[in-house]
Amino acid sequence: MNTEREALRESAREFTRREVAPYLQQWEDAGDVPRDLHRRAAKQGLLGVAFPVEVGGEGGDLLDSIAVMEAMLAEGASSGLMAALFTSGIALPHLATSGDADLVDRFVRPTLAGELIGSLAVTEPGGGSDVAAIRTTARRDGDDYVVNGTKTFITSGVRADFVTTAVRTGGPGHDGLSLLVVEKGMPGFTVDRSLSKTGWHCSDTAELGFADVRVPARNLVGVEGSGFAQIAEQFVVERLALAVHGYGIAARSLALTAAYCRRRETFGRPLVARQVVQQRLVEMHRRVEVARAYAHEIARRHVGGADVVAEACLAKQTAVECAAYVCDQAVQLHGGTGYLHGTEVERHFRDARILPIGGGATEVLTDLAARLLGYAP
Ligand SMILES: Cc1cc2nc3c(=O)[nH]c(=O)nc-3n(C[C@H](O)[C@H](O)[C@H](O)COP(=O)(O)OP(=O)(O)OC[C@H]3O[C@@H](n4cnc5c(N)ncnc54)[C@H](O)[C@@H]3O)c2cc1C
Repeated sequence: MNTEREALRESAREFTRREVAPYLQQWEDAGDVPRDLHRRAAKQGLLGVAFPVEVGGEGGDLLDSIAVMEAMLAEGASSGLMAALFTSGIALPHLATSGDADLVDRFVRPTLAGELIGSLAVTEPGGGSDVAAIRTTARRDGDDYVVNGTKTFITSGVRADFVTTAVRTGGPGHDGLSLLVVEKGMPGFTVDRSLSKTGWHCSDTAELGFADVRVPARNLVGVEGSGFAQIAEQFVVERLALAVHGYGIAARSLALTAAYCRRRETFGRPLVARQVVQQRLVEMHRRVEVARAYAHEIARRHVGGADVVAEACLAKQTAVECAAYVCDQAVQLHGGTGYLHGTEVERHFRDARILPIGGGATEVLTDLAARLLGYAP
């Protein structure tokens, strides 16, 4: 057993019990997570997990961040909470690996310290699945880029101090894309709408506008034209993280449901005394175990340096299908209680619905897997 990872797990559990679980419903109803939670998570040593110490992180790797996510979800954090609190996981990796000390000092360190909040803006109203079709432009003008366009569905975009933004600096297709950090307060940069959603209620989601926003060229991440490659490089980690959300909320829903079935009596016997209920719980358990074991295996291979692009797509699909089934059955076995606002399994049921869409729709990821595994012409 890796004792450091076990200690991290325990720290994440303790943090969730103390700082998250008592307030989560309040944040769900308010529609966002307080900024101070980012500072507290940083102080607890959770925010910087899997980021190198040299850029202000805690060190460790993807297996450590998976341990943190699993522990927090097991103690009652929600998928939305994880998306909001750990948006740094999608906003920062490109900056952290760029080797640009200025970007690291201005954005990576303060975000991992919980002082700033960052977002990643790729999706546009015209479409999210086809990243190569991005239309937001950044035209070079002297020492600046001039940015025009709209982004939508941006996690933490309402609260974000900066947005790592995919822009078109060149011609059509993949090669014309770059990443540029747009900062709150730059004239012409607006949060146009805070979007209300089926689930992930405590995770704010924004539509962002860019009207002749002048962004200094020093905010370019990497070299011009490398945006798509930088985004694609981080996709494996994002897909595995969403897989953890999937089996993590499923595992928590199963635990809550098993406890409920022991307490709840119908026709004079506890629900758990019925064979059909026992079998349902075992089936929920089986799906969680399969999703978790497969995601762990792919994460281990990724950390070991293997190319797991196709397998990460399959791990996400396996876990989101697990979440869809398990969270639905959890509501079913809770009866009317499971349908009530404020019942935890009801939240997980709603939160599960984004997982086959966000971070790559299942159809799109399956297409990609078909090409990579040699099943496409
Ligand atoms: C709550 C939430 C948070 C998000 N956070 C972020 C964020 O932080 N940053 C960001 O950039 N984006 C974010 N997104 C956007 C998300 O990644 C996109 O919604 C997703 O990529 C799908 O894009 P789309 O919604 O434009 O759907 P479209 O691309 O229009 O696709 C619609 C549907 O069509 C189907 N489909 C699409 N292409 C194919 C195909 N080739 N073959 C078969 N079927 C297909 C799929 O079922 C898909 O769901 C978020 C979205 C939500 C809802």
